[in-house]
Amino acid sequence: MMEIKGKKALRHDWTKEELLEIYNKPLLELVYLAASVHREWHNPEEVQISTLLSVKTGGCPEDCSYCGQAARYHTDIKVQALLPTETVLAHAQKAKDSGSSRFCMAAAWREVRDNRDFDRIIEMVKGVNEMGLEVCCTLGMLTESQAQRLQEAGLYAYNHNLDTSEEFYDEIISTRRFDNRIETIKNVRKAGITVCSGGIIGLGEKPEDRISMLRTLANMEKHPESVPINALARVAGTPLEFLPKVDVWEMVRMIATARIVLPSSMVRLSAGRIEMNEVEQAWCFMAGANSIFTGERETLLVTPNPGVDEDMSMLSNLGLRPMVVKREAFCNSSL
Ligand code: SF4
Repeated sequence: MMEIKGKKALRHDWTKEELLEIYNKPLLELVYLAASVHREWHNPEEVQISTLLSVKTGGCPEDCSYCGQAARYHTDIKVQALLPTETVLAHAQKAKDSGSSRFCMAAAWREVRDNRDFDRIIEMVKGVNEMGLEVCCTLGMLTESQAQRLQEAGLYAYNHNLDTSEEFYDEIISTRRFDNRIETIKNVRKAGITVCSGGIIGLGEKPEDRISMLRTLANMEKHPESVPINALARVAGTPLEFLPKVDVWEMVRMIATARIVLPSSMVRLSAGRIEMNEVEQAWCFMAGANSIFTGERETLLVTPNPGVDEDMSMLSNLGLRPMVVKREAFCNSSL
């Protein structure tokens, strides 16, 4: 039986067998272990509140089967060009005033291009950073020099999810390879930006795929600082529209396993929260989730998400409080 020692056990050499043994533990034992690790590495009373804003929506040339923003699927999502910088900064200020410590800007691009739109993203990053918020972007694939530009503008984190396992990847996306994801994550690291990377469950994958994805993250030379765990949001018009709803215990299992093998990371309970009641979300927090997305627009990118007031009321009911990040504008020279 493997020993899980919490803080001394930050490892990068997990085997598939070890991960499966954790994932398949009796549920209450698994949650107990994860909650213990959580308490060694984090204050269990705090939850990081992040706000996600879609700054460019829809019309994406990629074919991610779960995504309503892919141009090739017939969904209700309206295409929207890159928002004006002032609009984005107004949203960021509102997010800060509502208790968010991280502001994430998402653009439905396959990759970043060195054009005017990227110059505008750079302006947005500078502006949000000056507000004292942790700035995060998710813009698709990035080269090393683009990552460097973002870092110099004050970008704190870059989100680039693995989505699923390397083995299952081709079933979900055909327009890029798993290796492309890894390459972008490496470019982000080289630039000194923190990494936010996780995945989605409920895509039709097997438990072995979930484990394989977590293993890729846990065996990275440096663990991603944030690990979003998403439940498939079944968007009408996408190929995965009719898959069954993810069972809450599968989310709890996945979060608990992530917490144990990535103990220092923020584990983010992300898409799919709208379909969970407060009790179910409480289980996820008990299993080690310590971050959520919320938003004034009550959407997570283009799928429904609980609003700020509802989230604050839930945190209060559970005796949790928003994590306060004490920082001035991110100073590049301190890297
Ligand atoms: S997940 Fe991202 S890359 Fe994939 S289709 Fe949607 S917007 Fe495009």
